[in-house]
Amino acid sequence: MRVLVVEDETRAAALLRRGLVEEGFAVDIGSDGVDAVWQASEVAYYVIVLDLMLPGIDGFEVCRRLRADGRWAPVLMLTARGEIADRIRGLNVGADDYLPKPFSFGELVARLRALMRRGAVARPAVLEVGGLRLDPAARTASRDETPLDLSSKEFALLEYLMRHPGEVLTRTVIMEYVWDFASDATSNVVDQYVAYLRRKIDKPFGVPQVEMVRGAGYRLRAGTGQQRLG
Ligand code: CA
Repeated sequence: MRVLVVEDETRAAALLRRGLVEEGFAVDIGSDGVDAVWQASEVAYYVIVLDLMLPGIDGFEVCRRLRADGRWAPVLMLTARGEIADRIRGLNVGADDYLPKPFSFGELVARLRALMRRGAVARPAVLEVGGLRLDPAARTASRDETPLDLSSKEFALLEYLMRHPGEVLTRTVIMEYVWDFASDATSNVVDQYVAYLRRKIDKPFGVPQVEMVRGAGYRLRAGTGQQRLG
């Protein structure tokens, strides 16, 4: 299991490497952020241990660049103890877990193993489909760079559609994932909210991205949204 450890402090990096090798990992060390981004694009690492404080670009930027390049190796971020804002920011740029320094080596290994079980599947922090862009953490959405002003339910509906681009989603399925038990939503409500959403995300742009599939449900077009529909 090949692991990339990104840590600029030589002594800490050497200690981590020695410990992980004893646990059976193959360990490469990255000593700055730019190098780490390059290494992670050359080798399909099982997991990446990423220190936040690095010379050049920091751990947030490393993680952001990896995800933007479609590199999905799980990332465990090493943060300073008590820096809750750093943990939130790290998770929001695409890290999978964090461990505050100083940490127990046993916990580090257990977390790495848990992360490796997830595998390197795509887990984008920001969703992009055609011209649509939605950032669940920042609660912002845009189409063709124009910000969209959505209610929280419209936002949730769009997020769900964007997590399933190109799939036909029935009203029942949409209701199940976007509404909760406490709401007395009916399938009419889905139609109503899709209509609200279309008014905001499709109508001003001339090219519909949300399609109704007769007798089945709705589908978000996965294409670029550039071509005009007949
Ligand atoms: Ca460091």
